[in-house]
This record gives sequence, structure tokens and C-alpha cells, in this order.
Amino acid sequence: MSHRPNRLYLSSDALVANWRALARLSGAAACGAAVKADGYGLGARAVVERLIGAGCRDLFVATWAEADGLADLADAAGVSLVVLHGLREADLPMLGSLPKVRPVLSTAAQVARWRDAAPGRPCDVMVDTGMNRLGIAPGEIVAGLLDGVDVDTLMSHLACADEPAHAMNEAQRARFAALAGRTAARRMSLANSAGIALGAYYHFDLTRPGLALYGGVPAAGLTGAICPVATIAAEVLQCRVVRAGETVGYNATWRAAVDTPVAVVNLGYADGYRRALSDRGCAFAGDAPLPVIGRVSMDLLALDARAAAVREGDWVRFDDDLVHVAAASGVSQYELLTGLGQRYERHWS
Ligand SMILES: *Cc1c(COP(=O)(O)O)cnc(C)c1O
Repeated sequence: MSHRPNRLYLSSDALVANWRALARLSGAAACGAAVKADGYGLGARAVVERLIGAGCRDLFVATWAEADGLADLADAAGVSLVVLHGLREADLPMLGSLPKVRPVLSTAAQVARWRDAAPGRPCDVMVDTGMNRLGIAPGEIVAGLLDGVDVDTLMSHLACADEPAHAMNEAQRARFAALAGRTAARRMSLANSAGIALGAYYHFDLTRPGLALYGGVPAAGLTGAICPVATIAAEVLQCRVVRAGETVGYNATWRAAVDTPVAVVNLGYADGYRRALSDRGCAFAGDAPLPVIGRVSMDLLALDARAAAVREGDWVRFDDDLVHVAAASGVSQYELLTGLGQRYERHWS
């Protein structure tokens, strides 16, 4: 652990403040947390400990393997742990060792498998209201597919929640709302992070934010309510002065107009610092901005260090505003977070 060369500074206060803000915006609905993909790259166990401490009672992962890594924490706190990808044949051996975990069944075959494998055990169910990703058609549910199944939460997922004016939002909401009272489900859940910002009609009984917990802002309606959680820091391995007319990095894409102090830093695209940030990203020494110059390499990048006296062995921090970095790179906020590599020592404050 201590040999990991880069650092990810993670703020417990920011994570908890984001969850509280989303819980407040969820109004009367309970607010859960999507912690799949290792807590969107930040470290699922550390995230879950903090969110449970803040009062979160519903956790969502993608796979049974992810559930296995968190079940002790969820069980000790008595909170729900839910597997979004349902119950494949290959998942059956996990059922016995994870007795409290609920799958989100999304096909008729999965419902049949659940009836056989775990009669009477509660599950969740995904309805497809128009995204055509996972989920059972509303018609099949109305026709009785779930009769006799103990459904805790009936859920659906919005395709366009980050586009508030998109007609899909209301169409999906209406199809989902029409299922109220048509099943024995105890709760209904529709909204992800961006869905929360669509307003109370979208909240039902439980919301499922992911991205915004971790500092992402998927919709203008959340601007100001969400703060950054994760900041990359990396060490300067070499400082040099690049003479006017010389170039930096692969393919010589950056050329010095004047003699320029340059810091070469221990961070690259293998750390999730995307190559699309070549000549576009920014680091900081204190408040002084140090623009990324030239191509981002696999394990290294170069900074224009004119704004600060940077020395070998110094640490610099990188822009942690996901909206900025996504706009600069053309890479989604989701990919920026989940692409963070394994070379970081994760420092929670
Ligand atoms: C990932 C996921 C979420 C969380 O979505 P965000 O956009 O990250 O808030 C909610 N529900 C389902 C079904 C998901 O797959």
C-alpha cells in the first residue's frame, strides 16, 4: 500500500454532505446509494462505511461479487444490499452465503429461477419503461408474472434524466407510475442522481443516486448542491527548462514559444488521467495553475510550471471539478471516476 506512487485524497465530509443534499432533495423518499464499480472507483468499502454512518439504508451494486465484498458491512448495520444485474445461473452458488442480499430480477427466466432457488425470499424487480436495457415489460407484470413473489422494491431506470426537457422522462415516469398498486411490491424506485433533480414526481419511495455522491454533477439542477470528493495528487519526478522552439512529449505536439520551466509528473493514462487531457488538463501547486502540455503518456505527463516554482519531489494536485474535466476531455464524468486506476493510495480525511 505504502509503495503506491500516487495519491487520491478523498473527503468523508464531502461524500456525506453530498448524500445528505441528495436525501434532502429526495423529499419524502428514502435516499439510497449506488456503490457499484468499487464505489465508482473511490473504494466501495470506505464509501459504504461512511454512507451507513450518515444514515443510508439502501445500497446498490452491479454483481454478486461486489455484494460479497460488502455484505459484512451491510449485515452489521442491517441495511439493504441489492444486486442490480439480477440472478444468473452462475450466481446461484452465492445465494446461500449471502442470505440477505436481494437481486433485481429483470427477466421472466430470472423470476422462475428465483421462485425455484429461494422461494419466499424477498427480491427486487426491474421494469423496462422504455430504455430497452434491463427489465421486464410492464405488460408481463400486469399479466401476473410476479404473483406470489415477495417483491421489496419495484424499480425502473431513466434513460434521459440528465436531459430534463427530454420527453422520455415523462413517458417513463407515467409508465412506471401506472404500476402502482398492480404488484405486491412494498416500494417503488425510479430516480438516479439526475432523476432526483427532475422533481418530486420522480422520487416515488426510494432514490438511487450514484454519480452525484462522488462529486459528479449530471444535471444543472444539482449545481451548487454537490461538492468534489476525490482529488488526484502526484509527484514531480523531474524539472527542466525547455528552450524556446523545443518540444515536449510524444509526437512533439507542444512547442515552447519561450524558455519554459516544465515539471514531469508521475501520472498518466494508466492511472485514468485520460490522454484526451493532453494540452487541456490542469494541475495546481497551491493556487497556481500548471497546464498539462503535450501528450499524456501512459505513466507520465508534463506541466507548464511558469506559474509556480515547482521542484523535484513536490506534489501537485489535479483539477477535481468533474464538470470541468469532462468538458475539457470529452470523457464522461462516470468514466473519469470509474477509470481511476489501482496505483493510488487512497487517503480519506
Ligand atoms: C448506476 C445506477 C444508478 C445510479 O446512477 P447515477 O447516474 O450514477 O446516479 C441507479 N440505478 C441503476 C439501475 C443504476 O444502474
